[in-house]
Amino acid sequence: MTEEILMSATSEMRREAGYVIEPPPQPALPVVGSDRLFPVRRVYCVGRNYAEHAIEMGHDPNREPPFFFQKNPDALVTNGEFPYPVRSSDVHHEIELIVALGRGGKDIPVEKALDHVWGYAVGLDMTRRDLQGEAKKMGRPWEVGKSFEASAPCGPVVPAAQIGHPAKGLVWLDVNGERRQKGDLSQLIWSIPETISYLSGLFTLAPGDLIMTGTPAGVGAVKRGDVMRGGVEGVGEIEVRVV
Ligand code: MN
Repeated sequence: MTEEILMSATSEMRREAGYVIEPPPQPALPVVGSDRLFPVRRVYCVGRNYAEHAIEMGHDPNREPPFFFQKNPDALVTNGEFPYPVRSSDVHHEIELIVALGRGGKDIPVEKALDHVWGYAVGLDMTRRDLQGEAKKMGRPWEVGKSFEASAPCGPVVPAAQIGHPAKGLVWLDVNGERRQKGDLSQLIWSIPETISYLSGLFTLAPGDLIMTGTPAGVGAVKRGDVMRGGVEGVGEIEVRVV
């Protein structure tokens, strides 16, 4: 497979560059209509970006400044399987639109923000809700709840050159054929350009960064054997089995 050839070429080149151990593979996502990959640098996530989800989590739906956390890029999985994680008995699905940046920058103005987007994807911000809840209560970081292995099942990137920049469209998730999550991109508290602009004031963004833009209401637990199927209208769909 091209993917494997690409990976091994990269790894060979790096070994020759003099690393003392085998360098880790470059996390990457497939690209619709291409045999080339989208390399991932960072995975930023927006918290509580749909009012109804903020309410279901017991928070104020009013427009407070957005807040962010990160997942590790190597937590991306693209094989349609989500291994149920250790140390949790309350693992939740969060279907989200993902923005893939082709250009970086800092202090990006809202009206220029979409020029930095290379494409879009559909992904899941899988969450160990019990561990996240404990962390919240104790004022601790969210990593254990959010950034565990395989916590970001993801579909391929669709180039914006193909689909444009979606600002509305259904965001949905079914578990075993039953609708669990439903929202619309037009309901985002912080729009995609606003999110990019705000984030670029906190971090210097770079090509290869992903932004998971938040999840609509209806999050809930999954168990082994469940099939999650979800999508974002105009972008794509994913199907992921909990194993
Ligand atoms: Mn999320």
